[in-house]
Amino acid sequence: MKDKYAWVMDALSKAPLLTKARAVKHFLMGRNDYIKKERHADMDAVIKCALCPNMCKFDCPVLAAEKNDAVSPSGKMRLAYFIEAGYLSSDDAFEDMYKCTGCNACAQWCPFDFSVGDLLKGVREDIAEMGKAPPDIVEIKEKLEERHVMYEGERKDYGGHEHGSVLYFMGCEVSSHRDEIANSMIKIFESIGEDYALMDEEWCCGSPMLNLGFTEQFKKFAEHNVRAIEESGCEVMVCSCPTCTHIFRDIYPQHGFNIKARIMHSSEYLLEMAEKGRIKLRGESKQAVYHDPCVLVRKLGIEEEPRKLMARAGVDLKEAEFHGKDTKCCGRGSGLESTNEDIAKKIADARIEELKQHGDVIITACPTCKSAFEEGGAEAYDISEIIAMGMGNKDE
Ligand code: SF4
Ligand code: SF4
Repeated sequence: MKDKYAWVMDALSKAPLLTKARAVKHFLMGRNDYIKKERHADMDAVIKCALCPNMCKFDCPVLAAEKNDAVSPSGKMRLAYFIEAGYLSSDDAFEDMYKCTGCNACAQWCPFDFSVGDLLKGVREDIAEMGKAPPDIVEIKEKLEERHVMYEGERKDYGGHEHGSVLYFMGCEVSSHRDEIANSMIKIFESIGEDYALMDEEWCCGSPMLNLGFTEQFKKFAEHNVRAIEESGCEVMVCSCPTCTHIFRDIYPQHGFNIKARIMHSSEYLLEMAEKGRIKLRGESKQAVYHDPCVLVRKLGIEEEPRKLMARAGVDLKEAEFHGKDTKCCGRGSGLESTNEDIAKKIADARIEELKQHGDVIITACPTCKSAFEEGGAEAYDISEIIAMGMGNKDE
């Protein structure tokens, strides 16, 4: 036992005696003696992470932007432990629980494979049940419940049909801010004669609800979407947003919601169409740098598809210094721009600066990353725009 937990002793060696005694007792005896109530947070993981010497902190974009150890990965878990144990109830501590992009950079380095972004979901659920969620977080939840999409405003009518073999799920970012991505996908579907459908009433995939700790509300979004997807009669569902793809593909089934259709990210679908010869590309020569979206590469493992697709489109794609699974977040993961706009902007600026060293034009495969870069003053495109611009189908 002593050898097994030697690393804990090392980590605690400089702590005051009382802290040492409490921490070791909590760690070795388990949570049940100390935290009587049922918790949504995985307390064993929270405690292990809280006691870790913050091994992954060098790669946390929030810490890099804030330069405050309280919002480092282990720092957040230490605060989470004290919140869960009832030792801490300051507004600042609760607010720090929402300072995370869910980028999973910590999980890349963690010896326990923890993602602090994922651990925080249970902590936030407990905070919501304590009635301590910060007012701006409650407001996001209430607005989402009221309008069923993240952002205000009427959704543009793109025409199309509600039934078809390929359903295009736009996601909140595209339907509210990235008209050009919706138009590109629709142009592609029409050019190749796809039997595509658009939802008449597309709700958010529910990811913000789950992230912010409102799991029961998330399930209502899942229920609605699964029903609407079934009613469309689709065999394939294509999403522009990596988070929507991940939520539908991996998270809905964990909550008992199964979608029969094949769920594809746009990079997978477009590459498949190009390989089958349905999308014909003129192969014009362009130069750009590629930004790997965190969720796409780290949660969905989609790394090669956008690169192969861009090669077929004739793009000379440069690699950023931090690419593939070593990518850096655009700053908007987990809706950080809605909860902590300043931090999101600092993270985006840092990523833009790095990407610009490799090219003036950025190509990515996530509408939210595109928004972060464009609003940060960079020229950025989604892969679907490059394909729509480079298609030869209509001229043949
Ligand atoms: S996520 Fe893993 S590596 Fe990072 S602080 Fe927590 S336990 Fe340590
Ligand atoms: S998920 Fe990303 S932002 Fe959140 S703690 Fe881990 S590295 Fe930091």
